Amino acid sequence: MKIKSSEFVISNSKVTHCPKDPIPEYAFIGRSNVGKSSLINMLTQKKSLAKTSGRPGKTQLINHFKINDNWFLVDLPGYGYARVSKKEKKTFQKYITDYFIERQQLVCAFVLIDIRHEPQKVDLEFMEWMGENAIPFCIIFTKADKLRPKSIDTHVNNYIKILLDGIWEEAPNYFITSSSKSIGREDVLNYIDAINTEFYKQNS
Ligand code: GDP
Repeated sequence: MKIKSSEFVISNSKVTHCPKDPIPEYAFIGRSNVGKSSLINMLTQKKSLAKTSGRPGKTQLINHFKINDNWFLVDLPGYGYARVSKKEKKTFQKYITDYFIERQQLVCAFVLIDIRHEPQKVDLEFMEWMGENAIPFCIIFTKADKLRPKSIDTHVNNYIKILLDGIWEEAPNYFITSSSKSIGREDVLNYIDAINTEFYKQNS
């Protein structure tokens, strides 16, 4: 898919205030500092569509961007950042869970995982919650440039094995990306494009 246009639409903390356009929507979420802003900027090829974080955890809002006038890219707050107070964390979680449960337009969430790290409890629990609530998601492994090609496979296989040893009967779709080396861009965009095509076929 070619990105012809990408524009910021609105930021808010209530799913009821999200845009009403009946177009397919893709949410991006992950732990703070996972490389979410960099990935969004790489996908859209805009240097600062999503601001890369000066201070992780700062962007505590649901951010809608309209792409090619026919789908939404949603930048969600990073989770699991220690500097956010407990109370803030609670409200944050509620509006994020509300978003996932209530947002009709959401067709797929991308859960971002730093490819270098061992599976973290917070990510595994989050994916488990997505599964329990039947919210479709894929994994995007970020920062692949930080590993040698051989260890990329080892890390990914290990991650998937841990999911399959846990609650998952089937591994989720996943993508291997690097924003600094522009790896995986086409794979992610083609995946979105295929879902969009199907969506518009069914809704025409
Ligand atoms: P966010 O907090 O999840 O939005 O993460 P950012 O996009 O702000 O990135 C966090 C840090 O990781 C920054 O220092 C980025 O430069 C770095 N980073 C992000 N993506 C990559 C990548 O693909 N490769 C490398 N080497 N560094 C990255």
